[in-house]
Amino acid sequence: MMNPALGCQLCPLAADRRPERAGLWPQEEPVWLEGTGANGILVLAQGPGEEEMRLGRPMMGKTGDKMRTWLQLAGLVPTECWLWNVTMCMPRTPKANRPLRAAEI
Ligand code: SF4
Repeated sequence: MMNPALGCQLCPLAADRRPERAGLWPQEEPVWLEGTGANGILVLAQGPGEEEMRLGRPMMGKTGDKMRTWLQLAGLVPTECWLWNVTMCMPRTPKANRPLRAAEI
């Protein structure tokens, strides 16, 4: 799915996206939703973390693995849900994963 938020500068979190660093990571972009939504369920986390920003995908890493396991235990197919975040960029300033501010929601 194309990411319609590429290059978004609408809130202060845009400044927390990292520019490309050759050999280490590409330009970070907002993390768009995944899943078909076929079961009509939206699973919403606060915001992407380091792994999600690096991969450009929501709910990655250990927490994402746990979430998919919980969905399966609930009888759901994770790929049939929409997986997304309240914000599409990770808050890093002044510290990573701080609570969201009203202007960022
Ligand atoms: S968090 Fe959302 S509104 Fe803010 S810069 Fe990222 S994509 Fe744009």
